[in-house]
Amino acid sequence: MEWKVPLADVQFNEEEFAAVQNVLKSGWLTMGEITQEFEKEFCSYTGTRYAFAVNNATASLHLACQSIGLGTDDEVIVPSLTFVATANAIRYTGATPIFADITNELDLTISVAAIEQAITERTRAIMVMHYGGYACDMSAILALADKYHLKVIEDAAHAAGSFLEGRHLGTFGAVGCFSFFSNKNMTTGEGGMLITNDEAIADQVRVMRSHGMTSLTWDRHQGHAWSYDVVGLGYNYRIDEIRSALGRVQLRKLKGYNQKRRELTNFYRELVSEMVPSITVPFLNHPGISACHLMPVLLPEGIDRIRFMEWMKSHGIQTSIHYPPIHTFSAFARPKEFNWNLQKTENIGGREVTLPLYPGLTHEQAKLVVESIRDFLLENN
Ligand SMILES: *Cc1c(COP(=O)(O)O)cnc(C)c1O
Repeated sequence: MEWKVPLADVQFNEEEFAAVQNVLKSGWLTMGEITQEFEKEFCSYTGTRYAFAVNNATASLHLACQSIGLGTDDEVIVPSLTFVATANAIRYTGATPIFADITNELDLTISVAAIEQAITERTRAIMVMHYGGYACDMSAILALADKYHLKVIEDAAHAAGSFLEGRHLGTFGAVGCFSFFSNKNMTTGEGGMLITNDEAIADQVRVMRSHGMTSLTWDRHQGHAWSYDVVGLGYNYRIDEIRSALGRVQLRKLKGYNQKRRELTNFYRELVSEMVPSITVPFLNHPGISACHLMPVLLPEGIDRIRFMEWMKSHGIQTSIHYPPIHTFSAFARPKEFNWNLQKTENIGGREVTLPLYPGLTHEQAKLVVESIRDFLLENN
């Protein structure tokens, strides 16, 4: 269907076309100089020591879990209001995700109090997710982690270009993971990046990303190595040069993209407070600088969300839900011994709708979105 206002949109131009074409002409397609440059540039952009480009963020989350030594006896505290990959990555290692509630209507990130309540003697780590690019309460979370000797992994899939207290998100915990999936703030189609300041973690990830092999294709090609050892059960989580070339261009454009997203987010907020004040807009006055990946709003209690989304669709406007809570999926049925209190996740998760937001969205389109919300509410009161 032809949307008047799609949920998200990508804008490539001659720069991306040329970058990809240059790789194709060079004939070197994977694990080469372009990927190394991409990683270096991501390090300097985020202010971190090590960056590893991978085939997607889910792979980076899995490597993160493995690199901190998670295994079958371990529990990891994680929000339920996130994409299923956040929790799946924990389960790949055999560890158990323990879901914690979100903070409140204005802050959809994991609640610090809920994290502390969920800690047991088996807890090994906290996996946070910076919802929409808005920072979790990292100083409180790091203090808890310190107190209980836990590792922190940051699912920063939404947070390329998000800062808190001058630091890029993903640099607070042991590992930060980014996604370059096609609807994210910068994209390579499929792709991801793992960042860390920890040398031991970096050494692990470097090897495990590529079959557990001690020397890489590029080093052998360069004549630096003739053979290799295999030192662990590794994976093929490599990115290719085509995607890295795209990523380098997208990283250069990220700052401008995010500036547009912030400007549009503020515009939406003004329109909503003028035209549909019964709609709640989370993250008003949230600390830090957000990448504004998503434009979430909460419908008033009692509104039928599916009918609302159908109405928007009939007006040519694409909306989405972030997220159906993970603990409600059949593959995540609650073990009997757990008594999760996820009331806010269930209530707010049941009222959330994500509005269209992307750098090329016009003010006219944003106005049409909010006018359509107003008309729906007028007809349904
Ligand atoms: C997109 C996303 C992922 C997964 O990213 P992929 O690159 O598609 O694997 C993980 N967590 C969150 C919160 C996401 O939005």
